[in-house]
Amino acid sequence: MYNPKSLKAEEFIEHQEVLSTLEHASKNKNDLQLVDQILAKARLKKGLTHQEAAVLLDCDDTAKVKEIFDLAEQLKKDFYGNRIVIFAPLYLSNYCVNGCVYCPYHFKNKHIARKKLSQDDIVREVTALQDMGHKRLAIEAGEDPVNNPIEYILECIKTIYSIKHKNGAIRRVNVNIAATNVENYRKLKEAGIGTYILFQETYHKESYEKLHPTGPKHNYAYHTEAMDRAMEGGIDDVGLGVLFGLELYRYEFTALLMHAEHLETVHGVGPHTISVPRIKHADDIDPNVFDNGISDEIFAKICACIRIAVPYTGMIISTRESQSVREKVIRLGVSQVSGASRTSVGGYYEPEAEDDKSEQFDVSDKRTLDEVVKWLMQLGYIPSFCTACYREGRTGDRFMSLCKSGQILNCCHPNALMTLKEYLEDYASKDTKQIGDRLIEKELEKIPNQKVKKTATEDINQINAGKRDFRF
Ligand code: SAM
Repeated sequence: MYNPKSLKAEEFIEHQEVLSTLEHASKNKNDLQLVDQILAKARLKKGLTHQEAAVLLDCDDTAKVKEIFDLAEQLKKDFYGNRIVIFAPLYLSNYCVNGCVYCPYHFKNKHIARKKLSQDDIVREVTALQDMGHKRLAIEAGEDPVNNPIEYILECIKTIYSIKHKNGAIRRVNVNIAATNVENYRKLKEAGIGTYILFQETYHKESYEKLHPTGPKHNYAYHTEAMDRAMEGGIDDVGLGVLFGLELYRYEFTALLMHAEHLETVHGVGPHTISVPRIKHADDIDPNVFDNGISDEIFAKICACIRIAVPYTGMIISTRESQSVREKVIRLGVSQVSGASRTSVGGYYEPEAEDDKSEQFDVSDKRTLDEVVKWLMQLGYIPSFCTACYREGRTGDRFMSLCKSGQILNCCHPNALMTLKEYLEDYASKDTKQIGDRLIEKELEKIPNQKVKKTATEDINQINAGKRDFRF
């Protein structure tokens, strides 16, 4: 029986509930009165249920689809303004005992180079990332209790936070490692992580088991219930995601929203972020083998419908996607992007030799961070390196209250401008700096609270004079 309050995966992602939601959606997709009702509810900015959102995703009435896209764009502006948070992945180790059929790290892959960063390697990698201007990382690792035990991950986090090179610092480390137990989640929390991210890959249990034929990840319930254990361990910012292309996108979309509803119902706080990766070519992996690939148009519609269904949840797009796809979905709802990413173990310090590749997948957007920052500003966005909420303890429901209070323009907006200013002073090219300084001047005017505006202006002048790390 479907039960969003249950702690059992098969009850909060109940297969029959997904199927009946999809049936209802396909029957009613062009019931324009119903679609209008759903859109009217969405305009109240409190989100939608999975049943309602599934109808919007299915709707193919041209005028209504345009309304869906317009509304997503509007909600994106209302909740996130024009700020885009920037981060980079850092691959710690590609040793893995799992058999995931879409991932080149699967243990049977004998031709991929296996690598694991030592603490000295981490210093080199993080120094290279700091020299680009990064302040936020998402650490990534394969699952391997011998090579990558939790102690190794914790030691890496400690090293990352300890590195202070020139004006550089990593101020927030998000973690994307395999599902683990409450005790380990507690340790990650104590190590000061930001968001715990775990992609579900697919919510469809039968497919999940086929796609993960061997290894600890084979256990669907253990994987799907991971976020509940993470929350029990004290981590209140968790990031969901599915790997689009593995299963039918309508199924994944519905189940993803059911997962968000479950977290909100049980823990009082929904996911902090949702990621929307699509399968990519990789060593030993041909994405065309998976027949549920989705077009860019459907992908954009999924992003728009997620934005409408969970307006308070951040959305992440990686460099798996091209510049043009990223541009489209940033407008429709994405709030965080990675920049200048390397998916290899050790790839920031030194490019890998052709016969020594450890990459997880091919990157589409290969631009430098300076190019990404400049591009965002030319599109009218403020690239933000802000990590203030997490450092001020505004996580979980406290972050959500900030979002809901409408104080973003008095808090996140100046924080974004101050961290952008740091980037411009320390890392930007001359051209990017010029564009950025003009943008900051213009954007400071938008701060409604005069006191906040004055302080932000003073802090930015201080950054000009060499001081760093201001925040509201
Ligand atoms: N091993 C961990 C786990 O089990 O969740 C950590 C994550 S892994 C380093 C990061 C993510 O990359 C996976 O969750 C998966 O969704 C994604 N991924 C794997 N193979 C991929 C591929 N060929 N193309 C795109 N993304 C892929």
